[in-house]
Amino acid sequence: AAKAAGKGCVRRHGEAADSATGRRTRLARDLPDALARGELRLEYQPVVGTVERRVLGVEALLRWDHPVLGPVPPAEFVPLAEDDGLIVPLQRWVLEQATAELAGLLRQGRDLQLGVNISVRHLQSGSLVPDVAAALARSGLPPRRLMLEVAESLFLGQPDRADGDLQTLHDMGCVISLDDFGRGYSTFAHLTRLPVDVLKMDREFLAGIEADERSAALVHTVIELGRRLSIDVVAEGVETPGELAALQVLGCRYLQGHLLGRPVGPEGLAAVIDSFDATLLDGEPAAAGGR
Ligand code: C2E
Ligand code: MG
Ligand code: MG
Ligand code: MG
Repeated sequence: AAKAAGKGCVRRHGEAADSATGRRTRLARDLPDALARGELRLEYQPVVGTVERRVLGVEALLRWDHPVLGPVPPAEFVPLAEDDGLIVPLQRWVLEQATAELAGLLRQGRDLQLGVNISVRHLQSGSLVPDVAAALARSGLPPRRLMLEVAESLFLGQPDRADGDLQTLHDMGCVISLDDFGRGYSTFAHLTRLPVDVLKMDREFLAGIEADERSAALVHTVIELGRRLSIDVVAEGVETPGELAALQVLGCRYLQGHLLGRPVGPEGLAAVIDSFDATLLDGEPAAAGGR
């Protein structure tokens, strides 16, 4: 369809690429081959435990380096993949790569968990369960090491077969996390319906957390909710020492964000994990000025 539209178009090359539609069309056209051409890769971002004072896990984040357009963010191309069914082979690749990578790090004696973002389309396709099982079998990664991150917005609809598949993955021993918790429309009811082990609290919650009592109270409530339901709460998008300090006062035990570590490619990952500077968590001046 993208090709047909392109042919009928009399616009010149540069013009089409300049417009948002042109970019979208081009990305949608190029994405199917991106994997084969080796333009897709994964980065990994650390998740830190404040009590353990170390990197407890990493989240796999998909990257596309387009040969002409440069880096394309996943928020832009994942939806395109979801539109035309590419998402399933794409997610399969992500699962295979990431589980193999993590299994390697574990074999070297590290104690880590892997977070993989899951698309609702993959869940609805019915192939997520066999795809996860295959990735675990091939890599030898124990299921409890794999956390499947599912965005909360996916569950706005009625309960459906996807719920059953999530339950199956949970029964297999995988960890289920609700990603972007609190972004957009939230409903606590999801927490009773779905087998959720971890809440990833959206970065939006951090806005005003240092100065505004009401913002802090909200975050405190999410952490308390997690405690009562035996759900671990991870704060996403921690960028400043002030946010970190406020989160620690509020009892948040798990942190992710640029302050603790940016996403890195597999070649730099072991060093990031092994040389994590725990004094960051103490809010020392060196840490405050360090990043
Ligand atoms: P997410 O799962 O909520 O991932 C966290 C996002 O926050 C990542 O953006 C990460 O780079 C960014 N981030 C981390 N620390 C900070 C910080 O301190 N400040 C700010 N402002 N941002 C921070 P990224 O990599 O652009 O990914 C965006 C979204 O794309 C992800 O949100 C996830 O929903 C989706 N995504 C990424 N990889 C995959 C994938 O393999 N499959 C699927 N289905 N979706 C993916
Ligand atoms: Mg995520
Ligand atoms: Mg998130
Ligand atoms: Mg987020």
